[in-house]
Amino acid sequence: MTVLLYDRDAYMTDFIASVFSCEPIKYSGKDAFDIVLDETAFFPEQGGQDSDSGTITPLSSCDDNTSADPGQAVNVLHVSIKAGIIHHICDKPISEGTRVKGDICWEQRFDRMQQHSGEHLVSGTVHRFFGADNVGFHLSAREVTLDFNTTFEEKDIAFIEDTVNRAIYENFETHIFFPSDEELKTLDYRSKKELTGQVRIVEYPGYDMCACCAPHVKRTGEIGSIRIVAAEHFKGGTRMWIECGKRSLISARTQLSDARAISRITSAKISEIVPAVEKISDALKDARFKLVKFERDSILALADEIRAEQNPILWIDACDQDNLRLGVNTLVSGTDGYCSAFCGNDNDGYRFIIASSSKDCRELANKMKTRFEIRGGGSPDMVQGTIKATRGDIAVFYTEVGID
Ligand SMILES: [Zn+2]
Repeated sequence: MTVLLYDRDAYMTDFIASVFSCEPIKYSGKDAFDIVLDETAFFPEQGGQDSDSGTITPLSSCDDNTSADPGQAVNVLHVSIKAGIIHHICDKPISEGTRVKGDICWEQRFDRMQQHSGEHLVSGTVHRFFGADNVGFHLSAREVTLDFNTTFEEKDIAFIEDTVNRAIYENFETHIFFPSDEELKTLDYRSKKELTGQVRIVEYPGYDMCACCAPHVKRTGEIGSIRIVAAEHFKGGTRMWIECGKRSLISARTQLSDARAISRITSAKISEIVPAVEKISDALKDARFKLVKFERDSILALADEIRAEQNPILWIDACDQDNLRLGVNTLVSGTDGYCSAFCGNDNDGYRFIIASSSKDCRELANKMKTRFEIRGGGSPDMVQGTIKATRGDIAVFYTEVGID
């Protein structure tokens, strides 16, 4: 069993240990080395939390010249735990028996301590006030998600956020202890799985008590602050995204910068950007409505001009699909031949609709498919899709099949 130094001191950033074993392995398809130490401060991936990263540096040379040299830092790529043994997956080997210095990436560790301790306060608060359980937890560099077996209203989310931030302002101590089996039976604590062996209890008095093996902040004030940035329905319950400490600060800074940019674009004060954006959105909807109406009138006028032809073809630069269909329907009302409409340009290709009151449009589409790159399909009355071709090539094709 590896001695778990992080278990007793989450603030230990470096430590001295001996290499117990070093085995070559493959990690993410590359050559790597599985190094086991007699003791370690590296937290392994477990309970939904990613492992620590950092370096292990040999302090002494050894006979084996395949090992990293003294002073040459070896990168720890991943850390796992199996049957009480911690495995450090490293990019270089270090010989068995070598004395080493381990350095964990403290910035990453402290960030995770903030997120993880915040998770306790949120889960404990949800348990206490809503009687629901945390049934899933994921903590990575990208996001922190908590899954609960209940749903919340918006006011509940605000209440949880306020309650947890109050616990942070109170700045009380995290109480970590190892109760005896007898004592454990008397405790009302949260646990995500059946526990065996000595149980480590993490208590935030008045807020949470949970069996947990991960590193936590010493006092709640170190969490800094917490924001519940999203909450969505998930598997009959709720998935919640939280941000604590520096993560919360960085994302709030980014959001403020975005708000300032919108303020500049809309010439509105930050406090008034929402109505300003709504005004622009309404104006856009109005403009779009007028544009679609203008398109429709133009297409109907064009269709009216050629609807007496036997096989009329409508060419449009850009228009709404409904208007294109309306144009084709107008053509169909004037002839029993093939009525075609193409919308687009020679560079990007065209959307097309072909309709007829008496002919099988799929026959024409199948002929087109032998000549051009076409996507789409339809019925004998109407086919529609996209075509990669120039207007000139399509016109030549129509002439060749005798429907120009
Ligand atoms: Zn914990």
